[in-house]
Amino acid sequence: MENLTKEKINTYQVAKSRIKRAVEQLDLPINVYERLKAPDRVIEAAIPVEMDDGKIKIFTGYRSQHNNTLGPYKGGIRFHPEVDADEVKALSIWMTFKCAVARVPFGGGKGAVACNPRQMSKKEMERLSRQYMRAMAPILGPEKDIPAPDVNTNAQVMAWMADEYSKIQQYNDFGVITGKPLDMGGCVGRETATARGVLYAVREAARVKGISLKDATFAVQGYGNVGYFAARFLAEQGGKLIAATDSSGGAYNQGGMNPELLLKHKNETGSVKNFPGSDEIDTEGLYALDCDIIVPAALENQITAKVAQKIRARIIGEGANGPTTPEADEILKEKDVLVVPDILANSGGVIVSYFEWVQNNYRYYWSEDEIERRLERKMVEAFNHIYEYKCNNCKDTVTMREAAFMYALQRLAEAMKVRGWWG
Ligand code: NAD
Repeated sequence: MENLTKEKINTYQVAKSRIKRAVEQLDLPINVYERLKAPDRVIEAAIPVEMDDGKIKIFTGYRSQHNNTLGPYKGGIRFHPEVDADEVKALSIWMTFKCAVARVPFGGGKGAVACNPRQMSKKEMERLSRQYMRAMAPILGPEKDIPAPDVNTNAQVMAWMADEYSKIQQYNDFGVITGKPLDMGGCVGRETATARGVLYAVREAARVKGISLKDATFAVQGYGNVGYFAARFLAEQGGKLIAATDSSGGAYNQGGMNPELLLKHKNETGSVKNFPGSDEIDTEGLYALDCDIIVPAALENQITAKVAQKIRARIIGEGANGPTTPEADEILKEKDVLVVPDILANSGGVIVSYFEWVQNNYRYYWSEDEIERRLERKMVEAFNHIYEYKCNNCKDTVTMREAAFMYALQRLAEAMKVRGWWG
């Protein structure tokens, strides 16, 4: 499915503009912006991979380490054909702010490889993952920079990378990566953590909006890890999934669709489209639906000004990173749509990654109940911190996104100041 934006919006410029605005709103010196506008380090590496036909193909790999004031750099690795350095820089900036909002002791980082996993065999994926780790190992480590899964990467990819890192170190050093399989020091509930966090964020937003999740209708853009589990968890609360899309098409049924059956259909056919009983829908149609909640869970810059004008939902719970452009934010603010921003709504992933890292460091593992209880508490706390900050400190004049950036920036600026990085 084509992205809605004809001209590619520069995500890095968007991320920088969010920091600049927060610096101005908090009336902080421009030096704070100067210190945060560019990542500390960006590595671009040639990743040579022997393909199944014996030919060597060179892929471009990235790792952006934005800021480590509050702890080691932390952020996922994305495999996508269109990824570039600016996208990775932006995503690493959002990680810095996300970790500050969630109050986990990490900074922000992000990695990527420009590749198309759909056209690669499992063995080629394994060689690519191991070669990426060989290229990046000198700058990664449990106390330096800790990757995790993102778009088109999963627990298996993390296992190959953690194994390669352990070979390089010559001892098992699994704390270098989170989102690993359980048998390799993974954390129960990590696979579903981001979506579970989206559920808690949306649940809190529904509470302040006076919407009952039991009667709510919702739509999901991007039926992958985050989108599918978010749909499942919202449906478990009684919500009705009326539309979902993926990169090949979409399915719409006002009467509701069963999330598990929809996933089964996607696994069997390659897409959610043509789900029995549903009509086709595209991304623009999905965002224009008369429903209570929309969960963007695909890629950046999907909710443009044009899309925002058509939105009728009352809550947007940003599962994806950077799905909404600044122009669209203004329109949604005017329309009184409550946007729970990415750096809050999808922080469940990094929160449970933090739990995984702690357990790896202590070699002591918690139960699933314990993880879920801690995740829920942290998500509810984060939502309420930001909501109170918006209503009390900012007299309700700013959006949840602006409040989240301001809250995080205040923490970062204070920590950077005591470390002597500005002022
Ligand atoms: P994924 O690869 O599992 O799923 C992405 C889905 O989006 C796929 O179904 C794909 O077909 C679909 N998609 C792609 N382009 C689309 C388009 N134009 N329209 C509709 N659907 C489209 O990835 P994921 O891990 O679920 O990540 C999704 C988003 O959530 C990303 O923005 C990612 O950065 C963010 N996120 C993920 C995690 C995590 O733990 N996985 C954590 C925080 C944020």
